[in-house]
Amino acid sequence: MKAKVPITSQKRVVVIGGGFGGLKFARKLAKYDFQVVLLDKINYHQFQPLFYQVATAGLEPSAISFPLRKVFHKQDNVVIRLAEVTSVNTKESFVVTDIGEISYDYLVVAIGADTNFFGNEKIKSNSLPMKSTVEALNIRNRILQNYEEALSIEDAADQQAHMNIVVVGGGPTGVEVAGTLAEMRKNILPKDFPELKFERMQIYLLEASPKLLNGLSQKSSEKSKEYLDKLGVNVRLETRVKDYDGNTVFLENSQIQARTLIWAAGVIGNKLEGIPADVLVRGNRIKVDRFNKMEGSENVFALGDVCFMTEEKFPNGHPQVAQVAMQQAENLARNLGGILKNEDMKPFTYRDLGSMATVGRNLAVVDFPFMKIQGFFAWLIWMFVHLMSIVGAKNRVLIFINWAWNYITYDQSLRLIIKDPKKKK
Ligand SMILES: Cc1cc2nc3c(=O)[nH]c(=O)nc-3n(C[C@H](O)[C@H](O)[C@H](O)COP(=O)(O)OP(=O)(O)OC[C@H]3O[C@@H](n4cnc5c(N)ncnc54)[C@H](O)[C@@H]3O)c2cc1C
Repeated sequence: MKAKVPITSQKRVVVIGGGFGGLKFARKLAKYDFQVVLLDKINYHQFQPLFYQVATAGLEPSAISFPLRKVFHKQDNVVIRLAEVTSVNTKESFVVTDIGEISYDYLVVAIGADTNFFGNEKIKSNSLPMKSTVEALNIRNRILQNYEEALSIEDAADQQAHMNIVVVGGGPTGVEVAGTLAEMRKNILPKDFPELKFERMQIYLLEASPKLLNGLSQKSSEKSKEYLDKLGVNVRLETRVKDYDGNTVFLENSQIQARTLIWAAGVIGNKLEGIPADVLVRGNRIKVDRFNKMEGSENVFALGDVCFMTEEKFPNGHPQVAQVAMQQAENLARNLGGILKNEDMKPFTYRDLGSMATVGRNLAVVDFPFMKIQGFFAWLIWMFVHLMSIVGAKNRVLIFINWAWNYITYDQSLRLIIKDPKKKK
């Protein structure tokens, strides 16, 4: 069955994924004389760097989401379809989706990555990942639900397990979520649940390597640990989680009792049937050349988290971050646009603009290529950069107001358990 998509005289570029890479690419390519067909299984763009604030009840999900259709109100050469792509036929140039088949002249795969549980099914089914807005909301629900349940528990150890939270993965996400939870424990939770003793609640951040924030400088890594120590987070380095049954976290030589385990320990590229196995490298990434063209293909491109491109400075591929996806998207749009004018393609070169992570109120670390900053000033930079990167002026204002309100009152009134009460846990 063919999907209903308008037929025009323009060449058709099908883009799978409206994330950082796909959305930027579609916006840039829409300026050229192509028909751009943007497919995504959800109808909004998600701002993943602020998922942790949704998970910790600091922001509403709608503040970090933006409807894809609204982005293209003024672009009539862009066709949007809410569709999950299940496979691709690279020989006959069409994709198979849950709304039917769609042919393409050029295909751009920007499907991003998902949580990597490293093959441990038990951890997968018992822990909470944070790779979508829905998953961030699941974390919020679980944490709040656990405290509601803890109120009725007589057994002290069981009550403590309901209150403890373990975060696995000491990258920016793990650091940010652990720091924010520590602030909730200090400023908010004791007011919401005065019958519970929050001095007993333990927050653990477990990292398998010897340092936090591996992609950042030594100084930033050390500072982030110092900040978390100050906030009372139990940071355990060189600590690998062996297993988790929903109640006990099994480590090499010890155990932690916790009903909530947030898994932020790694990502793996989303797989698409029909992409030849020999172009997939470690982490399910699609091997592309410096023009983002998939190895062995003339009209299939991949960008962002799901692609693997090497440069002299990046022999193991680029970091899986938003800047890489967006810069590749711009370059690829320019290159495909150039085809219409018979221009030569320009190879991609990544400009590293820096990395950052916030640990809590007034605390952040920022590594620019030319300078490293920590503390309050870094925190202001972190807020400014994130605010300016959000899609949509209304979302920007909403987030600013939320942050200002939170800063002044120490309290956000978003601690809602949004789920169907008729459904069991
Ligand atoms: C919690 C968290 C925090 C992060 N923080 C930062 C940060 O602070 N700074 C930073 O630079 N990076 C950060 N990242 C990484 C950054 O979000 C990614 O590098 C970036 O999103 C990659 O962009 P992308 O376009 O490749 O994929 P994505 O943005 O993930 O987009 C993929 C899109 O494809 C869609 N899709 C997937 N499969 C299909 C299918 N089969 N059919 C249809 N649609 C499909 C998805 O719905 C999604 O919309 C963070 C990531 C997470 C999870």
